[in-house]
Amino acid sequence: MTHVAVVGAGPSGIFATAALTERADVRVDVFDRNPTPFGLVRYGVAPDHLKIKSVVRTLHKTMSHPAVTFRGNVALGQDLTLDDLQREYAAVLLATGAPCARRLGVPGEELPGHVSASMLVDWYNSRPAARKADCAERVVVIGAGNVALDIARVLLRGGRGLAHTDVTDMVLQALNRNPVRDVRVLVRGGAADTKFTPAELTELDKLPDLDIVVDPGELMLTDDDRSRCETDRTVAARVETFRRWSTRSRTGARRSLAFRFRQAPEALTGASRVESVLLRGGERVPADLVVSAIGYRGDPLDGVPFDDRLGHIPHVRGRIGPGLYTTGWAKRGPSGVIGTNKACAIETVAGLLADLPVDSRTPDIDTVLAANAARVVTWPGWLAIDQAEISLGRQTGRTRTKIDDLDRLVEIGSEGGRT
Ligand SMILES: Cc1cc2nc3c(=O)[nH]c(=O)nc-3n(C[C@H](O)[C@H](O)[C@H](O)COP(=O)(O)OP(=O)(O)OC[C@H]3O[C@@H](n4cnc5c(N)ncnc54)[C@H](O)[C@@H]3O)c2cc1C
Repeated sequence: MTHVAVVGAGPSGIFATAALTERADVRVDVFDRNPTPFGLVRYGVAPDHLKIKSVVRTLHKTMSHPAVTFRGNVALGQDLTLDDLQREYAAVLLATGAPCARRLGVPGEELPGHVSASMLVDWYNSRPAARKADCAERVVVIGAGNVALDIARVLLRGGRGLAHTDVTDMVLQALNRNPVRDVRVLVRGGAADTKFTPAELTELDKLPDLDIVVDPGELMLTDDDRSRCETDRTVAARVETFRRWSTRSRTGARRSLAFRFRQAPEALTGASRVESVLLRGGERVPADLVVSAIGYRGDPLDGVPFDDRLGHIPHVRGRIGPGLYTTGWAKRGPSGVIGTNKACAIETVAGLLADLPVDSRTPDIDTVLAANAARVVTWPGWLAIDQAEISLGRQTGRTRTKIDDLDRLVEIGSEGGRT
């Protein structure tokens, strides 16, 4: 048996694990700094997107394979080093994602009341140790992708609209206490330049008691936009949705969602916290909370090359160097949907298996983890957490309620792992 280490139990690490276990002579040890598996499927995908989250069933199956061992609550760079892994394993595959927020790069960015999408998403997805967001009546979201739409939709749903999901009661209560009434999405380019998926846009039509506002004057198409609409059906569908909204009159609904195009923020302004976004052209958009959803980038890992400009690990078809590989968002940066990571993982694993030496050593990584006093959560430990969350949810008629206390998760996971 040859042992491979996979760091990161998000979709890409698990898709890679699935491809590796197709070889009967390979065993895979999967590490994650979270005590729980599934990466952004658990802590990124919006809580009301239950169908998308159901990919967990496929991922779960791979992780239950007899040739796979999960060690959660183990961070590379903290509980073990790359040297430890390279010493013990025939190959190391990094699937650590792209967890850092891109900076807005305007004055006032540091003011309280401005948060990155990752901070807000961590909070509403009940990630342990997430900073509590100050929900507020008027929210400005800066960004032109699906994460900006997720944020607008989740905030406008409010606590009542998320009551069927797995988020903690604290999140539901915070959203009910301070209902969001007015969301403005600021887009730097025009409607044709956005990356919103048409289906995610039209999903907004289903939100009750909401006026969606688009100024027809800001929808002006350039010649280039028009020719893109003719050749690309997705661009045409986006533009058509915005055009439809631009012809609507306000109904007097209690809540509104405005899309503003060709509006670049120049500064965030306010005395002691954010009060408005100053746009190029001088307009001030009032805001109690500003969320920048302008993309993610990788987190450099000790001993691993990093392309600072592109924000991910440099590689050739997933190969970083001898015995060291990468896949998923760590490899490509933050692009594509969950399924995109499957083909990406297959490409990396093909190269890894072609290089893989026959190595019959059994890695002794648990001695390293014990020496570093790591509190490892194993797969049976995760199954115990899973059951605890399902039981917690049942108490309020839900399918699941997440536990957001790290110590509690590790405690349940460690006890469950021993039984
Ligand atoms: C807010 C948001 C919403 C999204 N919604 C959708 C959606 O609706 N539909 C869709 O198809 N896609 C969606 N995506 C995209 C999808 O989540 C990604 O394509 C996918 O999660 C990328 O997989 P990954 O495994 O590369 O990264 P991740 O899912 O981020 O997994 C990386 C894993 O590595 C672990 N890790 C990181 N550093 C270390 C370390 N040092 N040591 C140990 N472990 C480490 C992390 O804990 C994490 O579990 C969304 C993304 C975001 C950000």
